Amino acid sequence: MVIIMLGAQGTGKGTVAGIISENTELVQLSTGDIFRKNIKEETKLGIEANKYIAKGNLVPDDITVPMVVGYLDSDIAKNGVILDGFPRNLAQAEKLDKILEERGKKVDLVVNLTTPREEIIDRILTRRVCSNQQCKATYNLKMHPPIKEGICDKCGSKLIQREDDSNEEAIQKRLEIYENETAPLVEYYRKKGVLRTEEVSVKINRLGKQVAFDIIKDIKDK
Ligand code: AMP
Repeated sequence: MVIIMLGAQGTGKGTVAGIISENTELVQLSTGDIFRKNIKEETKLGIEANKYIAKGNLVPDDITVPMVVGYLDSDIAKNGVILDGFPRNLAQAEKLDKILEERGKKVDLVVNLTTPREEIIDRILTRRVCSNQQCKATYNLKMHPPIKEGICDKCGSKLIQREDDSNEEAIQKRLEIYENETAPLVEYYRKKGVLRTEEVSVKINRLGKQVAFDIIKDIKDK
């Protein structure tokens, strides 16, 4: 099974994908996390990707697509994947369809998370992530704070703010790129009949956790 998480930054794609992954056989594949791991380890890929990420730009497709294909073809993806952060534009979506078709697979479900803009900026600024790359738990200082300030509940490592989350200019740039390049994918997948749109918002008291468990139930009922 192949699931794609769509939605602007801060809508909770990582949280929803993480909960689905913990409760099914599907593995979460976050392109942003893979890039951040490479940046931390100062690999060639990380150094190159960081030139774009630090400014809030997309990493070019000729770097991103082969990296994703490598993961899709690896053993960890054999029971199915939740793609979190990929595809990010129409060219990536079309390439993904081709890659999956060549492997006798297809995109089964696209979860499109929507959140009011005013909530999004606040959620990004108050997001904290676990510094332990094996754990990668995500918190929100307002909605989902850790039990002990600055410390991950799951593994006890230090919580940090992502570099691109602390820079308002980079946040605006990422949201702009989302609107221009990624949002058209909503229509692309709607036409394919695989789109499931879910609003995540404190205003309507619907959080990512509830969305994730509704999706898990539907997957297991099938
Ligand atoms: P994310 O954690 O998904 O917000 O991703 C962090 C950053 O990694 C993005 O702002 C992009 O610079 C880069 N990135 C992640 N996924 C992709 C992708 N599919 N294509 C290009 N750049 C990406």
